Amino acid sequence: MRPENIRNFSIVAHIDHGKSTLADRILLQTGAISEREFRDQVLDDMDLERERGITIKARAVAIRYQRDNEEYELNLIDTPGHVDFHYEVSRSLAACEGALLLVDATQGVQAQTVANAYLALDGDLAIIPVVNKIDMAAARPEEVAEEMDSTFGFTPEECLPCSAKTGMGVDRIIDAIIEQVPPPPGNPDDKLRALIFDSHFDEFRGVIIYVRLIDGELRKGQRVKMLSTNATYDVTELGQFRPQRRAVDSLSAGQVGYVIASIKDLRDIHIGDTVTDAANPSADRLPGYEEPKPMVYCGIFPTDNDDYDDLRQALLKLSLNDSSFSFEPESNEGLGFGFRCGFLGMLHMEIIAQRLEREEDIDLVQTAPSVTYELGLRDETTISINSPDKVPDPSTIESWSEPIAKVSFITPSDSIGPIMQLCQDRRGKYLRTEYLSQSRTILVYELPLAELIVDVYDRLKSITRGYGTLDYEIIGFQKADLVKMDVMVASEKVDALSTIVHREFAMKRGRRLVQKLKQEIERHMFPIAVQAAIGGKIIARETISALRKNVTAKCYGGDISRKRKLLEKQKEGKKRMKQFGRVEIPQKAFLAVLQME
Ligand code: GDP
Ligand code: MG
Repeated sequence: MRPENIRNFSIVAHIDHGKSTLADRILLQTGAISEREFRDQVLDDMDLERERGITIKARAVAIRYQRDNEEYELNLIDTPGHVDFHYEVSRSLAACEGALLLVDATQGVQAQTVANAYLALDGDLAIIPVVNKIDMAAARPEEVAEEMDSTFGFTPEECLPCSAKTGMGVDRIIDAIIEQVPPPPGNPDDKLRALIFDSHFDEFRGVIIYVRLIDGELRKGQRVKMLSTNATYDVTELGQFRPQRRAVDSLSAGQVGYVIASIKDLRDIHIGDTVTDAANPSADRLPGYEEPKPMVYCGIFPTDNDDYDDLRQALLKLSLNDSSFSFEPESNEGLGFGFRCGFLGMLHMEIIAQRLEREEDIDLVQTAPSVTYELGLRDETTISINSPDKVPDPSTIESWSEPIAKVSFITPSDSIGPIMQLCQDRRGKYLRTEYLSQSRTILVYELPLAELIVDVYDRLKSITRGYGTLDYEIIGFQKADLVKMDVMVASEKVDALSTIVHREFAMKRGRRLVQKLKQEIERHMFPIAVQAAIGGKIIARETISALRKNVTAKCYGGDISRKRKLLEKQKEGKKRMKQFGRVEIPQKAFLAVLQME
């Protein structure tokens, strides 16, 4: 395929604005898939993703399309839409010359619309603005086009209206891709340079890498070299997803495809690396990416210790396909043997935990999340810790630093006051306000990541009745006056409930936490003291009074089905309990630290 007839593009959008639907609609309209296939969303092939509407792994589909007697190759590179997966968006965009910036005609510009638009602008891509869902009664395409104008400077005439659902306006979008996205600039006769923009582990084929050829040609059987590690491999298969995997003999400059080369371990592959010919290598490395570091950690323990090996296997399997997820063994007095796991953010954490329980059928206890801290010690060394139980003796600590996030909120203007209050209460630093339209505003704050992960997202949703969105990026570490807060239940210290808090907020947090725990821990045959302490000093206390009657006694009048339901519910709850000394603590209690006001 000649570079002049190739177009490489992505679709970027806020979550649920219709990216997957539009991708599938483009495949349908260009004949790449059938009507029936359209109905089962083809690009999101993991159950969990379909359910949550999130594409986690970026994928590339090559579409052959005929127009005016010219055959074009349109490579659609799929990107995830969620805030935790920024880096996957930018690495996919690096393989493109253009992007469709999709916005929902009922919702307007949202936090990830803005974040994704900036990623595309940073990558110097041609951007085609698209207003989707115009078939809906609640659509307000003119107003939304105005928001696109005031936020990004796209004129209302530039915004293409469409309905990914009905197909209306989609032909016009395909034309725009051919007319407005520049063809790839590379030279097929130069030395091979290909950018690795994604990879995944296939149970049957091993590592599959996704490449975008910049210069030269890649052939089956060719010996290739990775420029960052100098590792060499023989290409055993290469091809394209159309959308079914189709092997080809060669790919040339500008094209996008997959490579299989007997690579056994995903960790041997560096996203952003340059692939070149081993015998005739190019010396020029393409600009790469920095692998994102996990910023949010939590402990994951099997409820039943016999499941430890199964859990380890399952984590290994997940990490094979997700290099941003990390885990290492951890043991804990109360919880036994488990793993400390690192995630990009809260959603990433939720998805992995759900996947473990659902796909692997392992009951888990998940501890309260924590961020990475940097501690300056008196002996002038610095350590990184990702778990409250790794905090050394306080007398050895000189200073604490914590990760700081720059957070952009997009909110109805009448919610600005409560959101500012929320940020103030979370140690936020106000940066600026921008007006998106008469009724909607962008508010930018710096917030400690530790505060952001507690409940800011949930509070934003409730303050704005669902209309507010946020996006964040980590901008660095800053010194803060932090302390470790321990929790004792019936005089037993429960490590898994320890948290790191700001000294100024410790009292308030401690009090809220013990109150929460009092609600979550069921009454026992004896009274239970729940205490919060800093360095041995009790700062808050609640008592769970003793149980007097059998629970079923609450059901009057012999309503058998209700009694049975209650018993079943108790049994269900049992699975998610952990014994600490004489007290059973439900899994939910470990998340109580998350839900503090
Ligand atoms: P994504 O998260 O951006 O990939 O969004 P999806 O493609 O999964 O779409 C989110 C929801 O919006 C789904 O329920 C789609 O069926 C629906 N949707 C997408 N495009 C349209 C459209 O043009 N019109 C209508 N009415 N619904 C749409
Ligand atoms: Mg999707």
